Amino acid sequence: MEKQSLFVQVANLEERIGELYIELGTLKQKIQDLIEENQRLQQENERWRKVSSTADPLTSAGSGIDNLYEIYQEGFHICNVKYGSLRTEGECLFCLSFLQKTEDA
Ligand SMILES: [Zn+2]
Repeated sequence: MEKQSLFVQVANLEERIGELYIELGTLKQKIQDLIEENQRLQQENERWRKVSSTADPLTSAGSGIDNLYEIYQEGFHICNVKYGSLRTEGECLFCLSFLQKTEDA
């Protein structure tokens, strides 16, 4: 009876360790995702700083559209939907229509 109870306890413990192991794996994956996300944001920030320092619409009046186009070409959104964030899905219709409107004006 005593041995049986001990065996059950060990089996329960084994099950809990198994669950913890799975949880640990999930947490490790989340950390990995966060590290990747952080790295991506750092790169995005770095690129954004480079572009915005060379293309400042305020100090170079008249070429604002060119600057926006340049920023877009560098891979950033210039539309009001996702302004300043990295374009990861290729061309953005909002950005393109914004550029079109700006050129027409
Ligand atoms: Zn866009």
